[in-house]
Amino acid sequence: MRRAKIIATLGPASISTDMIQKLFLAGADVFRINMSHASHDSMREQVSMIREVESKVGRPIGIMVDLQGPKLRLDMFADGAVMLEKGQKFILDAVKQPGNAERVHLPHPEILAALEPGHVILIDDGKVRLRVVEATKTRAVTVVEVAGKASNRKGVSLPDTTIPVSAMTEKDRSDLEASLDAGIDWIAVSFVQRPEDVAEVRKIARGRALVLSKIEKPQAITRLDEIIELSDALMVARGDLGVELPMEKVPGLQKRITRTARRLGKPVVIATQMLESMITSPVPTRAEVSDVATAVFDGADAIMLSAESAAGQFPEEAVSTMNRIAEEVESDPIYRSIVNNQRAKAEATGADAIAMATRDIAETLDLKAIVAWTTSGATGLRIARERPEAPVLTLTPSISTARRLAIAWGIHALVTEDAHDVDDMADRAARLAGSEGFAKSAERIIIVAGVPFGTPGATNMVRIAYAP
Ligand code: PGA
Ligand code: MN
Repeated sequence: MRRAKIIATLGPASISTDMIQKLFLAGADVFRINMSHASHDSMREQVSMIREVESKVGRPIGIMVDLQGPKLRLDMFADGAVMLEKGQKFILDAVKQPGNAERVHLPHPEILAALEPGHVILIDDGKVRLRVVEATKTRAVTVVEVAGKASNRKGVSLPDTTIPVSAMTEKDRSDLEASLDAGIDWIAVSFVQRPEDVAEVRKIARGRALVLSKIEKPQAITRLDEIIELSDALMVARGDLGVELPMEKVPGLQKRITRTARRLGKPVVIATQMLESMITSPVPTRAEVSDVATAVFDGADAIMLSAESAAGQFPEEAVSTMNRIAEEVESDPIYRSIVNNQRAKAEATGADAIAMATRDIAETLDLKAIVAWTTSGATGLRIARERPEAPVLTLTPSISTARRLAIAWGIHALVTEDAHDVDDMADRAARLAGSEGFAKSAERIIIVAGVPFGTPGATNMVRIAYAP
């Protein structure tokens, strides 16, 4: 009955059928496989473990594969590491020789070409800050603004530079093909900068998986509306976002991205460091509890665990803690008023008008559940967009639709064959609402469907029925 969904990232602490089942039972709805760390074989193994758990527990489970994206890195240093002092000059160049305290090779020629005087270069998640003072096609001279250590293959972030390459590297392309072949449900695209980056993944995916854009670059913020338009869902990727932009901008952006996604009815995931201290502690900090609660109060579709479930000592506790926080927030009397206040007006489409009317009828008549027949999942998402008080049960003939909907706010998806006629549609919806525990005998529910059945995008009818 929890509305906000939980995504758990898999890793050394959780890659086993046994642990995946424990995490599912503790509340995880979707599992994330991180291609920054997984080989193709490991990815396929994780997919088959999740599917095994899915068939044991008899509930659809979503699988998200997260592509690494163009994570930029320094090359090697002669002595492994150097100390960079404030005010000194430091050069990034195209010379393939081990680095020292004066220079290092940056193995990305297109990045060197794109750097301009004034641009900031961050090393190791922002621990060291350089500013470019001179730039040619093959060499950038910088001044150290924040001192610190630079070492072999450390990550490089460029908040000011629009990187003239697609968000997809060769590795991403091959990881994407392998994941699509493995039958996953969601592809998460890292470091999206432009709508074209999303379009490119969509073109390759050809509907075999839905596409989630990770918002972690300032360039993506400036084109947010266009990016959302092309995406099936968004992630507020606070880890890299807080490196690429001043950290104090992240909370405001989190609210802005969440609202924009909710307005457009696209699922939005809040990610990174949500229960960070639980990597090594069985209990979170009060500030972390408050952070998870804020995401739930904002009506986010899903909250995500990263290292907490992938590499921490308490993966199961981290999931059950998130579960408890979300349940508590959703039963808080103030939750409804906050979520309702942020509800956006229905768009002028049949599906939205019906979704709005459905919520209205369910509230007016205090109906026990909204049951939506949905082929592609779109009707389910438009109803979830209304954030109704009554639970939402979606019925679909497609297992892949049911799995995809695991990420969406409030949706409890069931796989069942398409209705034969209008009576079957109402009878089966009422029966399933009863057997899934949403309505007791003789309690009323509301059913949403499109006739003729099986035609995506034809939501056109609403009916009230009694649970048998
Ligand atoms: P990552 O993405 O964990 O793949 O880096 C999430 C983030 O940056 O917050
Ligand atoms: Mn990231």
